[in-house]
Amino acid sequence: MAIMTIATLHCYQCDHDFPLNMYQPIEKISCPYCDTDVDQSMIEPIRNAWAQVSGLNQTFHKHEMESEEPRFGLNVHDEEVHLDIDDIDNETE
Ligand SMILES: [Zn+2]
Repeated sequence: MAIMTIATLHCYQCDHDFPLNMYQPIEKISCPYCDTDVDQSMIEPIRNAWAQVSGLNQTFHKHEMESEEPRFGLNVHDEEVHLDIDDIDNETE
């Protein structure tokens, strides 16, 4: 059994998520919902971040098979959170 690490990009323009196929070369990323382009300079950082997570999870998988270590898997996603400092900023405006 193999693992595929699926990267999901969130578009803040239209508030949708969409998956990226990182197992093939990517030259351009556009949101399929609103057609906004991801800046070209961000593609390599996205690939690097995906490769880090993918590599980590492959290592967990390998450890489990070879030495019966407990297996985990890292999933990463962002959430916007409300902080107290946000209220203070609003009051001074
Ligand atoms: Zn979008």
